[in-house]
Amino acid sequence: MKRTKLVAGNWKMNGTSGDLGEVAAIAAADAVCDVALSLPATLIDRAARAVPGFAIGGQDVHPAAKGAHTGCVSAAMLVDAGASLTIVGHSERREAQGESDADVRAKAEAALAAGLGVILCVGESQSVREAGTAVMTVSAQLDASLPQASVDAALFAVAYEPIWAIGTGKVPTTDDIAEMHGALRARLVAAFGEAGQAVRILYGGSVKGSNAAEIFAVADVDGALVGGASLIAADFLPIVAAAGSIEKASRDR
Ligand code: PEP
Repeated sequence: MKRTKLVAGNWKMNGTSGDLGEVAAIAAADAVCDVALSLPATLIDRAARAVPGFAIGGQDVHPAAKGAHTGCVSAAMLVDAGASLTIVGHSERREAQGESDADVRAKAEAALAAGLGVILCVGESQSVREAGTAVMTVSAQLDASLPQASVDAALFAVAYEPIWAIGTGKVPTTDDIAEMHGALRARLVAAFGEAGQAVRILYGGSVKGSNAAEIFAVADVDGALVGGASLIAADFLPIVAAAGSIEKASRDR
């Protein structure tokens, strides 16, 4: 099954209008893979106007359509601001905001219903990795977070992000990434049948220009979710280029 690689940046709580030049530089690159940037909610409208046609995303969404949810943003609001996708279930939200798998599922379902693409994050803690139960734990997390209806693979991706690898410079071995992505692929096929083969599974956690090619060469790694290295075009574009090289090679085959 051919899956076009996706390299998505997550700016987290970084960036003001003075940083829109980085968005423009990333959007202007001649990418051979799919590229997206999930920005702070405050920048989505301006970024979407500045780079029409480029995929700008949110970093979270509330499951409700509207109402008394101070500080939250609905899927319709993201669409209205010009977003075409959103991250859900990032470990920083699961941990700091206490989001459960059921919450993440509801957010994913609300975003998809509004026509947004979704990048649904799962990943294990250091202690789970050390206990040897990472595959079982993350597979169960995915099962409980997945939308319950069938998904359009063009709009839905999973990101495997080991929590201990986020922002730490630590990266799992390629064998460990392959084992986890293979297990997640099996869960996607169990949930969605053959359509599960078309869903992209991104790797996230300390991806940089220097390690991207090795990670992208792993079976069932269909791109990356990138935090720190997505803030500056000069750091992000080598990752996009690494995905593009693999994409080009597979198209030429
Ligand atoms: C992330 O938080 O989604 C992430 C992958 O961060 P970093 O690339 O900085 O490890």
